[in-house]
Amino acid sequence: MTAIGTRSVGVSFLHFDDQPACAGADPGMFFDEDSAEAAQVADLLYCQRCPVRARCEAWAMAQPPYSLHGIWAGQSHPQRLAAHGHQTRRNGHPVTA
Ligand code: SF4
Repeated sequence: MTAIGTRSVGVSFLHFDDQPACAGADPGMFFDEDSAEAAQVADLLYCQRCPVRARCEAWAMAQPPYSLHGIWAGQSHPQRLAAHGHQTRRNGHPVTA
């Protein structure tokens, strides 16, 4: 288990001496998961200058689509679902029926 800021999840893409740009950031900024705008802000403030962005994105996209919430590598949960080919409603929630 590795912590980014106060986000403590099984982040296996981080190496021991990595310094992710979001370390110490307000974790609330990364868990407005339905908001493309929140993802854009997080992307601009942190992810675009993050030295581990490519690994973060690859890791996030490798997780089962419905298991990982929050913004990772500048993408919200609905954006990842869409990238996986899942339909989402206008409000960002998955279409289930
Ligand atoms: S790409 Fe963004 S979410 Fe991922 S480690 Fe870097 S700053 Fe954090």
